[in-house]
Amino acid sequence: MTILAKRTMSNNESGQQVTVKALIAEEQTRLLYQQAPISNVTVYSVALLFYFILKSHIDSGIVELWVLALFATATFRLVLWLMRKNNPQKWTTKQWLRAYLIGCLLVGTAWSLIVPYIILANNLTIAIGLSMLLFGIVASAVVILSVYLPAFVVYVYPQLLTLIVTLFTYGDAGHNALAIATLVYLVMTTLFTRNVNRNLLENISLQVQNSQLIQDLGEEVKNRENVIKKRTLELQDKNNALSKEISVRRLTETALRKSEERFELAMRGANDGVYDWNLQSNEIYYSPRWKRMLGYEDHELPNEFSTWESLIDDKDRERSWEMLTDYINGRRDNFHIEFKMQHKDGHWVDILSRAFLVRDAQGNAIRTVGTHVDISEKKRQEAHILRQAHYDGLTGLPNRFLAMDRLAQLLKEASRDVSKVAILFLDLDGFKRVNDTLGHETGDRLLVQAAERLQSVVREGDSVCRLGGDEFVVLLRNLGELTDARTVASSLISQFRHPFSLDERELVVTTSIGIAVYPSDGITPTELLRNADTAMYHSKEQGRNTFNFFTTEMNLNVSRMLEVEEQLHGAQERHEFSVVYQPVVELQSNRVVAAEALLRWNNPVLGTVSPDEFIPIAEQTGVILGIGRYVLQQAVENALRWREMLDHEFKIAINLSPRQFRDTTLVDYIKDLLECNGLKENALVLEVTEGVLMSGQQDIEHALSRLHNAGIRLAMDDFGTGYSSLNYLRKYPFDVLKVDRSFVNDLTVDPADCELVNASILMAHGLGLEVVAEGVETENQLSQLRDMQCEYAQGYLFSRPINVDAFTDLLQYHSKAESSV
Ligand code: C2E
Ligand code: CA
Ligand code: CA
Repeated sequence: MTILAKRTMSNNESGQQVTVKALIAEEQTRLLYQQAPISNVTVYSVALLFYFILKSHIDSGIVELWVLALFATATFRLVLWLMRKNNPQKWTTKQWLRAYLIGCLLVGTAWSLIVPYIILANNLTIAIGLSMLLFGIVASAVVILSVYLPAFVVYVYPQLLTLIVTLFTYGDAGHNALAIATLVYLVMTTLFTRNVNRNLLENISLQVQNSQLIQDLGEEVKNRENVIKKRTLELQDKNNALSKEISVRRLTETALRKSEERFELAMRGANDGVYDWNLQSNEIYYSPRWKRMLGYEDHELPNEFSTWESLIDDKDRERSWEMLTDYINGRRDNFHIEFKMQHKDGHWVDILSRAFLVRDAQGNAIRTVGTHVDISEKKRQEAHILRQAHYDGLTGLPNRFLAMDRLAQLLKEASRDVSKVAILFLDLDGFKRVNDTLGHETGDRLLVQAAERLQSVVREGDSVCRLGGDEFVVLLRNLGELTDARTVASSLISQFRHPFSLDERELVVTTSIGIAVYPSDGITPTELLRNADTAMYHSKEQGRNTFNFFTTEMNLNVSRMLEVEEQLHGAQERHEFSVVYQPVVELQSNRVVAAEALLRWNNPVLGTVSPDEFIPIAEQTGVILGIGRYVLQQAVENALRWREMLDHEFKIAINLSPRQFRDTTLVDYIKDLLECNGLKENALVLEVTEGVLMSGQQDIEHALSRLHNAGIRLAMDDFGTGYSSLNYLRKYPFDVLKVDRSFVNDLTVDPADCELVNASILMAHGLGLEVVAEGVETENQLSQLRDMQCEYAQGYLFSRPINVDAFTDLLQYHSKAESSV
């Protein structure tokens, strides 16, 4: 590439607009200056040569002056050349050109100085020599300066014009002719130089254009490359989209195939009724089996959508329809529902209905294919189990579970209607003695008769329930005045004044009653039940056979509470807490599979305080938040150690209190804790009591479902005490049910407790929960629990709660014993 081309590109790169004209001027300048060293050195030498030739012929210092002038001007030009060489940017092209012109003018004028003296020399040889020199200079100027016409003019004209003028001064024809010839020569060379100049300029401009063309081409190539790159990318994108589309198609096809397979499967299920509903044409087909399930022959029911609509129970119609449309519109991903349909002979058939969507390649639902299964028998069995679980087998009265459900229901109504509810807690006096002296069977008969008397007293709408043993409750709804409760209590007491006839024996068994009233004595079932129980206890203390209303004084032991509260402050900072662990044993394998973490408090002033005492106080003051986190940390760390050391499936159970659930950061705290420690979510079981659920707050429900969704297991603790609502078990995502130790305790002696434990286990299994029995102390209890299919147990029979090191030893001992078997 020529220098010019390079410059053009670089100039262009710097963004400068370089016009062709400027480029040409620059090239002219470059060519002019390029000649400078040679031409000026030539000037030196020629001047020197002529000095020696002319010195003897022309005197009075003129030659010296001439040579000096030549030397000076040539030096001036050389200096210019040097300056430009060192710093071409010093001046603009125009300035360089102008300087060059001045240089030319000076040198040209210097040469011309000698011309008048040629004649003076009066020596033909010298005249010819000098003339030759002059013409030689002019000739070389044509070559060198034709690039720039003004340079040629200022260089050549002074010399030739001086010559012409000098020749004319002679005035003779010969000199005149010579002068005219020179003039002609001048004109000719000028014309000639102009022509050369034009050609040269043309060449230069061509060169410039070429280089620009090359540059443009380069840019064009670059542009093309970019376009090609872009196109390639676009093509790649299209390719990707295409392959995505292909895989989506494949998926749709697979889904379609699957739907078809499902359809075939459904059709083959000979025992199921089948329907096929074309969503586009709205045609529907019911299989003969579908109709026979409802007692109809194939021809007796039309294949129309209205057939289903007219036979389904009014209560179920809208719900089913909603679910189906949600499924079709993609708002839910399955259709699975139970409803009732009317049989030809009038009775209701329980139907399990399932549906599958058939979609076209675009994913649009085109058909719904479904099955109907008659689940009436299953429903009957379930109802039977529920009945068993809800009614006391001995007296036929609602048992504890149903009692609590009813109470909750009553409280809801009462809070809505702003009315009162009374809970009468009854305990037969001296029942234990009857049982012990006359035997269980007599005891049972006494309970049955007592139940009948209780029922005879209450109004319709009020409930009598058996809580267990010889404990009953009477629930009085819509209470106008407290005196109404008093009246009922009095008549109950008087009912028991008459003797019971048992084994041809007349026996007087009185009752003690405690009364708690909603809302003044409590607003939750547990609270009310506990307070009624407390009031009953006072009746016993007052010599039995009487009733008492609950008063707050009955519960208070204020000074001790205050002391505990005081000592709780700062107890954590003083490191007074520790955590102990109680093993949970899997009954089938006899293995320790989990531990429950239990808090211990050792205070210098109060000594060891039971968690049953300090935890409620810690709750009230909020101290539980800090202590709760401490237990979580300890338990998680140790569980991780035990899992890594001995048993990868080992689980840890931790108790959480209601107050902790009101802490909105609880769930995130637990999740972070597990993540930081690297403990799997399903290794953690969180035990909550009904107290947590009772408040009915939305955020508690939310917290529980977030924990559940994170994979953390939830256990319902102390089941059987207090409220024990089935609804809670259904409503919240529990995995484990812990049967309270008070039931397990009397399992082998009290048939009512036995029944309650059995009912709890049945219910839990029915709802898909595992059961842990708490407080197992004897082999007898254990074997009964085994018989009832209870999965896990915990209690002093296996081990008391023990500290970390003791628990580690215990685990190690067990795993060694296992591996040696
Ligand atoms: P819980 O959750 O029902 O814990 C089981 C209680 O039963 C423990 O009492 C345990 O020592 C006791 N126990 C275990 N096996 C037997 C047995 O065979 N017979 C008898 N009679 N008792 C047995 P503990 O440790 O005194 O705890 C009492 C309650 O305090 C716990 O009842 C729990 O509700 C609460 N609690 C304990 N630690 C914590 C904790 O870290 N946080 C919270 N929020 N509550 C805790
Ligand atoms: Ca517990
Ligand atoms: Ca418990």
